Parts: sequence; C-alpha cells; structure tokens
Amino acid sequence: MNLLYDEAIDGPLPDIDRPALIKALREAAPGAALLHEAEQLRPYECDGLSAYRTVPLLVVLPETAEQVQAILRCCHRFQVPVVARGAGTGLSGGALPLAKGVLLSLARLKRILEVDPVSCVARVQPGVRNLAISEAAAPHGLYYAPDPSSQIACTIGGNVAENAGGVHCLKYGLTVHNVLRVDVITMDGERLTLGSEALDSPGLDLLALFIGSEGLLGVVVEVTVKLLPKPEVAKVLLASFDDVAKAGRAVSDIIAAGVVPGGLEMMDNLSIRAAEDFIHAGYPVDAAAILLCELDGVEADVAADCERVRAVLINAGAVDCRLARDENERKQFWAGRKNAFPAVGRISPDYYCMDGTIPKRALPMVLEKIGELSEHYGLRVANVFHAGDGNMHPLILFDANQPGELERAEEIGGKILELCVEVGGSITGEHGVGREKINQMCTQFNHDELETFHAVKFAFDPDALLNPGKNVPTLARCAEFGRLHVHHGQLPHPHLERF
Ligand SMILES: Cc1cc2nc3c(=O)[nH]c(=O)nc-3n(C[C@H](O)[C@H](O)[C@H](O)COP(=O)(O)OP(=O)(O)OC[C@H]3O[C@@H](n4cnc5c(N)ncnc54)[C@H](O)[C@@H]3O)c2cc1C
Repeated sequence: MNLLYDEAIDGPLPDIDRPALIKALREAAPGAALLHEAEQLRPYECDGLSAYRTVPLLVVLPETAEQVQAILRCCHRFQVPVVARGAGTGLSGGALPLAKGVLLSLARLKRILEVDPVSCVARVQPGVRNLAISEAAAPHGLYYAPDPSSQIACTIGGNVAENAGGVHCLKYGLTVHNVLRVDVITMDGERLTLGSEALDSPGLDLLALFIGSEGLLGVVVEVTVKLLPKPEVAKVLLASFDDVAKAGRAVSDIIAAGVVPGGLEMMDNLSIRAAEDFIHAGYPVDAAAILLCELDGVEADVAADCERVRAVLINAGAVDCRLARDENERKQFWAGRKNAFPAVGRISPDYYCMDGTIPKRALPMVLEKIGELSEHYGLRVANVFHAGDGNMHPLILFDANQPGELERAEEIGGKILELCVEVGGSITGEHGVGREKINQMCTQFNHDELETFHAVKFAFDPDALLNPGKNVPTLARCAEFGRLHVHHGQLPHPHLERF
C-alpha cells in the first residue's frame, strides 16, 4: 500500500489559502525565516527514509520558543497541519512533510541553556545535537547516556519525539529514562511543562506519555536531561563466530550470566565487510557474525566482568575473542559499528533500514527467517543491531531504479515486522512508526487499542493538525489494509474515521 499521505484513507486535509497564510505567518513571527520558493522547499521533502518524498507547502524556521508558539497559533487559526522537524535523520518518515502542511524546523533553536554539574542536569533547546550535550558536559566529567548512531547530527527534540535509543541504552535506558522535563507547545499555542527536575512529579506521568509521541501531541521547545558521571573505565570485547545463530545464543547467555554490558551489538558478515571497507575498524572479514560487548564501571569490576564474558563467549562457540588493546582500538571498534549504516549505503544504491524488537531468545530463529526471506525475494539483507535489547535493524539492500525492487524491499520489511510481532516482539524499537510502519500498527494493535491512542491524540490535538497520517493509523486505513472488520460497510466507530 502506498505510504504517501492518502486523503481517502488518512483523512481529508483542508485546502489552504497559501498567500494569506504566508502573510499571517510573517506578521505572527516576524523574526522567523519562511521558505516558500520551490528550490528552497526541496531539501525538506524527506527525512532519512528517502524512498518517500513530498514537498511541503511552506517551511518555517523559528529561533525562539515564542516564535514557535506564534506559528502554531497562526496555523491553528488557518487549520493547516504542521509537521515538526529536527535534523531529519529519522528513519521512519516521521518528518515527511505534507503537500498541504507547514514544515516547522526546530533546527535554529540550538542553544545549551544550562549545564548544572551539581544537580547533574542540562537544560537545552530542541535543536541541540545529541552529541553536543555530552561535549558540553565533558569538562565536568559528565555525559548524556542515550547515544543513537546518528548522534553527531540528530537533535534532542527528535530524540524525545522518537524515544531514541543507542548502544548504551541496554544499561542506561532509552531517552524516556534520561529526560526529566520537557516544555512543549500544543497546536493551539499553549505552553506546557511535563515532568520536573525531581525523580517523580505529582499527577499522571504525562512526560512518559509524551516521549515517543512522534510530534503528534505537541512541539518540544525545551528539554531537561539527566547527566551521568563518565565511567572510570570502559573496555570492549570483540568476539567472532562462524555461525550467526551461535552469536545470537551468546547474547542471551551473557545476559543470563548476570552481566549488564554498557553495550552489546551484533553485526553479520555483510555489514562487517561493508564497515571494514569503509572504516578499517579491525573486524574479522571472514566471520559470519561478530559481537561487540562493552563493559564499563570501576576498574576492578570491569576486569572481572571481562573475564566472565570472555568465558561465556568461548563457551557459546566464539572462534575468537579479543579485548581492545587500548582506548584508540576501542574507539575504532565502535566507529565500525556506528558507521555501519552509511557503510552499507556504499555497497548498494539504496537500502531500507527496518527496526523491530524481539525477545532475545527468538534471535537465532528470527535471523534464520530473515535469511530465508532475503533468498526468496532475491534482495540482500545486512543485519546490524542492538542485540542486547533485542532491537533488530535488518538493512534491506535494493536499487530504486530497478522496477519492482522498492516494492520487494517494502514487502520483505513488512514481513520482518510481522515476524517480530509473531514471536512476541514489537514493530519498532527506537526508530518510531512514522509513515513507514503505519500499516503494521494495524497488525500490532486491535481496534480498541487504536481507539485509545486516538483518544489521547484528541485530548492534546482535537483538530488532528499535528503530524497527521503518522504513527496511529485511521481505522479506515486498517480496514483498507485488511486488518479491521468492516460490517455492512461500517467501521466499528465511524465517528473516529477522520483521525
Ligand atoms: C545513520 C543513522 C543511524 C541511526 N541510529 C539510530 C540509533 O542508534 N538509535 C535511534 O534511536 N535512532 C537512530 N537513527 C534514527 C534517528 O536518528 C532518530 O530517530 C533521531 O531521534 C531523529 O532525530 P532528528 O532530530 O533527526 O528528528 P527528525 O528526523 O527531524 O524527526 C523525527 C520525528 O520527531 C518529530 N520531531 C522532531 N523534532 C521535534 C520537536 N522539537 N517536537 C516535536 N516533535 C519533533 C518529527 O515530527 C518526527 O516525527 C539513526 C538514523 C540514521 C540516519
């Protein structure tokens, strides 16, 4: 099914008087940049999921939270939909614009407002890059733990919206576990503060509800994050296997041994070769799979854990297991993993990065099935992922210029996601649902559950103007996708059709 916005099944969007909207936005937020020429709009037509593109009606780039507020109020008055955008590195089409919608870029709100080494918190604007927070905290011996591989570019606002993860999230938690407070602006221009600097705050936990809401409930204008002390030492073990299933089993064995690694990542042969060619990380190019296991903490504990993990890995069938000699080699091992996506981009004209989560015990079986799907559809699949938390990232290699290849890649992707659900997992781990997995939401959730999501959306954004067509499918879409019972042409709750 076409993944671009389809008014027939995603809900009608109003026609907008563009010149009047431009005039009103200029008056409402005079300091904000407004792009409206075709060549200015083109760079914003997609995010990291570049197979899907739509040129937005307009792009607005405010510099202050007050301008964001004024822009949202104005768009609300015009009833024009708004799609928020950070750095546009998202891989699920969450920031994909609407032809009848305004793209609101938060990239210019990029000030670090405060680093407080006493309370171990930082207060930042949404357009601050993930890595810039750790860089600002480093002089105090602190850092921000969630580290998406895109951390050099992606913004904290985008991380909040996607509940982003990364290598260190197995031990230190996802974005939701590391953000204390967010300030958001709702579609009608109200500024809300969710959470507090304390560990708990009174009332319902709206902060947790908001984190991962993919720009559907409000626009983040300020984020307060936790900072952690940098571990005394960090060591990384690189284990190679002659069989992917053995590497999959070793992951469960490490966790079962009671060790919580700072990171536990797996790469298969295709991704090892691609990364090695690109980064020269020192990976064994003949291995069927490698595991990178980082252990961090105080020196004595780390030394003991390294020995325990090494024994588990050898016992699980690793043909080789070596500890990075020094800090340079440790960084090099991680550079290979962190650059694995762009490395795969060098060996294929296009790739489609899936994101699903499975129980760790299902890893060997799921990897085998992915291999079978790859063979059946005649498209290569590279696996590189956060193995410790069961978060898979199969990269499906294709050439969009070859007729039918994109459709085949989409089909494998859909089947992999359904497999994740079948084994008790979920259709996303950290990249969000966006536009990409909107159909699979109908597989993961029944209509009562989807109605609950619509009710939450309705409470924050009654006119459904924030990022419509993303994350939560309309019931009409699920009916079209064949996952909802339609009785005598009636959806179970016709009043919800337009959401
Ligand atoms: C090479 C590569 C590696 C990656 N590795 C990882 C990884 O390890 N872990 C991981 O989790 N992700 C990863 N990603 C995906 C992506 O980087 C994350 O999803 C990131 O959080 C997106 O941030 P962004 O600033 O680019 O957001 P965008 O792509 O601009 O937007 C993402 C979503 O957030 C919404 N949004 C953005 N800003 C705001 C705001 N201020 N208020 C409300 N909504 C907003 C958008 O509407 C959209 O729905 C990777 C991507 C790439 C290209």
